[in-house]
Amino acid sequence: MNRELDFLDKEVPGSIENHDWTHEVFPEELREIYDPEEVTIEPYESIEDLVGEVINPYRSSDLPLNNPRPFPGFVNFLDLAKRLGAEFFGFYLPYHKYHKSNRWGIYLMKEPILEHCNFLYDSQEEFLGKEILSYEEVQQIFIYCIFRHETFHYQVETFITRMELVQNKALFLPYQSEVEPLVRNSKHWLEEALAESSVVRSRYVFNKNKGVKAKHITALYEWHLKMMPPGYSDYECEEYNGPDEAHKYFASQLKETARNPKAILPKSMTVKSLNLHDFSSVPTYWVSNNRIKQIY
Ligand SMILES: [Zn+2]
Repeated sequence: MNRELDFLDKEVPGSIENHDWTHEVFPEELREIYDPEEVTIEPYESIEDLVGEVINPYRSSDLPLNNPRPFPGFVNFLDLAKRLGAEFFGFYLPYHKYHKSNRWGIYLMKEPILEHCNFLYDSQEEFLGKEILSYEEVQQIFIYCIFRHETFHYQVETFITRMELVQNKALFLPYQSEVEPLVRNSKHWLEEALAESSVVRSRYVFNKNKGVKAKHITALYEWHLKMMPPGYSDYECEEYNGPDEAHKYFASQLKETARNPKAILPKSMTVKSLNLHDFSSVPTYWVSNNRIKQIY
């Protein structure tokens, strides 16, 4: 990737930026409970290492998480998840902006993830009919689902980078600043819809949770997605006649940096067709909040 970035830096003006660790790295709503200056960030060699280490057999529920006392103006976790979608549980910092500062990669948020796992574990009768999954299984499934979601953003960035190298034209940053604001928080937010579509029935997620039946994983994640905001909950891409067509439309949006692309690319030129499933080069971090450490 360094060679690609060197090329872009030299040959394609405006394709790369240099951002540092500031408050803006956290989505706005997340800053209500997370101060980027007051977090502990642990790097992991791999997502497998992270999962192996952070899964907790003991539940942290029955703690006063929805009690407004520990945080002034505290909003409950589920409410924040319903507003923020997957980015409440983790986010991706792109190398187009964060490579130079060594901050690019996937950040998984400890407290939102564990709290939501409590909630999913307690709710399993609603989507499985009876209690089938252990608390550890729920955590393992959910962490891999969020990781897979964030790796979709990495796949998108990789896809755009290739187009930038071929076209000698900045696409990633213009897409983020010009097109994304037009679709954000709507059912037309294809990057999030397709990210979730890549998680539902993901072979990758199934393989990482071999002890659990695939249909139980799907039931859990689809039930979770129904609560998520527009874009995330639109993973079936009904407005676009399903994910395959949406992939073609999305790839064309990226290529033309346009909300309504003029020419629709074929299926073989989509993010999905990239077939990139080696995520070992993506830096992965576990983020915990220093102020709520005592609760978890
Ligand atoms: Zn996302």
